[in-house]
Amino acid sequence: MEILLADEMGFCMGVRRAIDLLDAALSEDRERPPHMFGPLIHNPRLIDSYRKLGVHVVKETNELGPGDRVLIRAHGISAAVRREIEATGAEIIDATCPKVAASMQRAARAEAEGRTVYLVGDPGHGEMEAVAGALSDPGGAIILPGPEAAERVAPVARATLIAQTTYESEGYEAVIAVLETKVDDLQVYRSICPATRKRQEAVRRLATSCDALIVVGGRNSANTQRLFEIAGVGGRPVWQVEGVDDLPSGLDSYQRIGISAGASTPDAAVAEVVDYLQTLGEGV
Ligand code: SF4
Repeated sequence: MEILLADEMGFCMGVRRAIDLLDAALSEDRERPPHMFGPLIHNPRLIDSYRKLGVHVVKETNELGPGDRVLIRAHGISAAVRREIEATGAEIIDATCPKVAASMQRAARAEAEGRTVYLVGDPGHGEMEAVAGALSDPGGAIILPGPEAAERVAPVARATLIAQTTYESEGYEAVIAVLETKVDDLQVYRSICPATRKRQEAVRRLATSCDALIVVGGRNSANTQRLFEIAGVGGRPVWQVEGVDDLPSGLDSYQRIGISAGASTPDAAVAEVVDYLQTLGEGV
């Protein structure tokens, strides 16, 4: 069995930065481990390893109080939630990815200029809530999951279009094409993160030379899910796994297995899968 790795995979800059900030806060004061406001990344194993160090995930601002430290994850938070956290007296460690922060600023500026704000992404995703929440009227941002939703919007004179950083690039181009027919003055931000694009292109390339693929990453990770979808185009068998325990049986029947990993997947999780497959390959 041959194991082929995607040229680009695993932790992106924003996730690495968030983990570095968390590690720095932990070593600064081990007696007062910071909280995470929502899971830092969609990777249950990593979250669990931090839980053992006393870092707990909080979901509501009323779980915080004076003297607490709380890390804002790379997805960011809305302005309203930030104000609520500040009101608790907790200290904020801001790990909002600079690229997400840029989308938040662009959305707020577009609103101030009187433009309709369209966000292309998964409604309910933390990043979309953060970007919509940067507007003074968060309900004013219209979230479009895809081109079909764009077909349904009414024509407007001026609008700004921003994509979730992990959105699939071809899908975004399809939304742009639809909105160009409906908006006289359409301002488009190519806000899909290059880390996402590079991982998507790499898995697309990899898929052409493999007869099966494994995508390592958390089940709740949107970018891992997109890699999984891309890997499956063409009908090759593909599995999304969080670790070796999720691997299916019968992998030793494949000649060439490709491996990719989402932007929130630690190198150790990929190494574990590679080691397992190598052991399996030796037995063939
Ligand atoms: Fe930031 Fe890109 Fe990583 Fe998202 S995928 S956290 S935008 S570096």
